[in-house]
Formats: sequence, structure tokens, C-alpha cells
Amino acid sequence: MPCNRFFSLAALSVGICFPAAALAGADNAAVNVARAAELAAIRAKHEQTEREVAAIMKTRQEEIRRERGGGRPKSSSNVDGEARPAVPVEHWSYEGETGPQRWGKINPAWAKCHSGNRQSPIDIREGIQVELETVNFDYKPAAFNVVNNGHTVQVNFGAGNRISLTGRTYELMQFHFHHPAEETVGGRGFPMVAHLHHKDAEGRLAIVAVLIESGDPNPVVQTVWNNLPLEANEPLVPTITMDVSQLLPQRREYYTYMGSLTTPPCSEGVLWIVMKQPITLSPQQIAIFARLYPMNARPVQATAGRLIKESQ
Ligand SMILES: [Zn+2]
Repeated sequence: MPCNRFFSLAALSVGICFPAAALAGADNAAVNVARAAELAAIRAKHEQTEREVAAIMKTRQEEIRRERGGGRPKSSSNVDGEARPAVPVEHWSYEGETGPQRWGKINPAWAKCHSGNRQSPIDIREGIQVELETVNFDYKPAAFNVVNNGHTVQVNFGAGNRISLTGRTYELMQFHFHHPAEETVGGRGFPMVAHLHHKDAEGRLAIVAVLIESGDPNPVVQTVWNNLPLEANEPLVPTITMDVSQLLPQRREYYTYMGSLTTPPCSEGVLWIVMKQPITLSPQQIAIFARLYPMNARPVQATAGRLIKESQ
């Protein structure tokens, strides 16, 4: 098999080849122009988000400085004069001082992580079985970039991939992975999950969760692994396209409930669509992600009486 990408992390002696089929059509000039426009849009969106986040963090840091004592610059002592290392308000992780139990306390903007009562993930059980509307997945080969953002490996998209249900259309923004899967089904865990984040024109989020178990390799995940950036937070922009429909299971039954983002700021009002049928990754594909992220799953949260519906 021809090898158009080879990925090797230090001490990670895994060579990965992917069929050249995905390269077809890449030298079409019109496609290149469209792709350049898409990538420019992705970059602009990314930069805008970064500016917004930077502005929020700056405001918050100024507030903290004021709270810590009348504008004394960067005081790192408490009232007892005891030295206390300043914890950056934007830092969170999956264990220890900055782990999930502390997210809601680290930054007031993340209070929902602590006080919310419609949080995700959950253990999916006792759903009511009804005739759920089919989710219409309108995914097609699209340009993408891959970012290792320190919390997960994320694949970002411009416009073009959509889902629609209940009269709404949501655009695919990005997908990323957790190891192990964050959600459980009737108490059963899975080695990994992919979360596909979609947003509608009014900013409402719909996240499709695709559970992953060990088995045959998946071509989309292989493309992601082939294009893993070597540096954190530096997007790798491949010259090929990706057909995200190959990340979906064959059967389209799902569970659905209202929840939240599973990372800070833990915003609620998120429509969750958890596909019932898992897809498979090869043990090697799972091992690659597990090596980068041995544990990046938030624990399950209280369902707190929420309604869960599932396809019959
Ligand atoms: Zn996620």
C-alpha cells in the first residue's frame, strides 16, 4: 500500500499508511480556491475566538488582582503571609488540583461545572423507547485541520458538513476524542468516544457521540492519526479532504437528552445525540490515542431526573 503520510512520535514506533484515494481531485483549481477560502474562514474564526478568550481572561485576572488586595500587583501571599502559588484561572486538567472536582472553583466563568444540574456526561439508562426522528447526516469530503490542544486531539472544519433534525440545521465545527469514553450505557464503559460538535445559526449546540470499541481499523481516525501535529496548539493543515460520514456507525438509532459541554465552561443547553451502535478502532489506533491521552474523560454526572429518549 502506498504511504502518503508517515507519523512517528519519539519512542512511538508506529508507521501508518493510508490509501491515496483521498488525494483524488486535490489538484482541481476550483477546489483549491474553495479550500483556501474555507481555511481562511477557519483561521479567522480561530483567531476571533482566541481574541475573545484573551479578553475574558484579562478581565478576570484584573478582577482577581483587585480581590487579592487593593491592586497590589500579582500578590502571591494570603492573609497569613503564607506563600501560595498563583493558579492560572484558565488551566484545567483531568486530575489533581485542576481536576474535574475543582473546575467550577478555578474560574467563576466555569461555575456550571460545579453548580449545574444538567451536566454531561451521564450514565445512559432507563430511556423511554419511542419513534425518534432520524438524524439527517449531510457530511461530504471536506478540508480540515488537526490540533493537539493539550486536552484532546481535535479536527476542525469550515462550513459544509451538516446535520438536521427537529427542523433545525446544525453545522459541524469540530470533532475530538476521549479515552476512555465519557458516557456509559447502562453502566457499561467503552474504550473511547468521538464527540462531533455542531452549532446552528442561533448558536445552539448539538453533539453527536460515537462510541468506540476495539475491532477493525477506522479510515477517518487513521487519517487523523496520520496528520497528528508534532507541536501542541499548532494546527496541521493537510492537503487532503476527510469524509466524516465514515466515522458514523451503520445503524442510526440513538439516545438523546439535554446536557452540557463536558469540559470547562460546562455550558448547558446542549442537545446530546449518542449513537447506539459503536464503531470500531483497531487496538493499535486506540493505543496511539491512549499514549497521548491516557485519561481525558470527565466522570459521569447526576442525571437528576432528566428525560432520556431512545430509538426503538
Ligand atoms: Zn468531548
